[in-house]
Amino acid sequence: MVEISLRNVDFAYVKDPVLRSIDLQINKGEFVSLIGPNGSGKTTLLKLVAGLLKPTCGTVLVRGMEPGRMRKRQLARIVGFVTEDLNPIYPFQVKQIVLTGRLPYKSSFFASWDELDFQKVKEALAKVDALEYLDRYFGQLSAGEKKRVSIARILAQDTPILLFDEPTAHLDPGHAVEVLEIMKKLHDEGRTILTAFHEINFAVRLSDRIVMMKEGKIFAEGKAEKVLTKENLEQVYNTRFRLVNDPSTGLPYVIY
Ligand code: ADP
Repeated sequence: MVEISLRNVDFAYVKDPVLRSIDLQINKGEFVSLIGPNGSGKTTLLKLVAGLLKPTCGTVLVRGMEPGRMRKRQLARIVGFVTEDLNPIYPFQVKQIVLTGRLPYKSSFFASWDELDFQKVKEALAKVDALEYLDRYFGQLSAGEKKRVSIARILAQDTPILLFDEPTAHLDPGHAVEVLEIMKKLHDEGRTILTAFHEINFAVRLSDRIVMMKEGKIFAEGKAEKVLTKENLEQVYNTRFRLVNDPSTGLPYVIY
């Protein structure tokens, strides 16, 4: 079953399109990674699926509905978006941040939280091994801790489709691997995942399919072995690459 569909999609912020002729279908339970240089359109594509932007032409569908036209609450029960950096302007505690993930289940913005909401918040924080931060101020956490709390917020939102924008950006290897393991767990639970990755080898490790973007277009897509050729990588990133076989997975490992 197709859960996310982009057909012949163009998008322009101002005049020149930054996404052009995008055709992409993602099935339920698939893990798809977007890779490509800075500015190639990965974040913009995620924002179209998240309903934050509407296509200039073509159609974006999530479960057969247009995210840009859906009621926000209805969309937020289906799609969760972990953006690159969550930066609340007010000194919120972690529990308050994660509780906002429950807003789509409330009848109004001022409705009070109930036991179920607090239970979901605790479950979500436990899942990312961050329950101990419950009462801490979000702004005082490290980058890795913040990222885990941002993921917990989306878990409290409890959506079948998850979008991530560079989920391992600014994380040291230990924290990056923790985030990858959480993403793998979410995929194993049957959720559909679409993520942008800066680190190509992370995409290889987790994805069913890789979508390689260049200048707003899909340059190549498919399994890692097919997409990550030396020629494709060098054309897209404009630098020299070496590829070796990772003996532990049998998958390509990219060196640059
Ligand atoms: P990526 O995620 O691959 O780095 P983006 O989707 O962020 O790429 O950006 C694609 C293009 O759109 C870039 O040329 C970028 O400068 C431009 N762009 C991104 N956001 C805006 C914006 N809010 N207004 C105008 N141009 C933007």
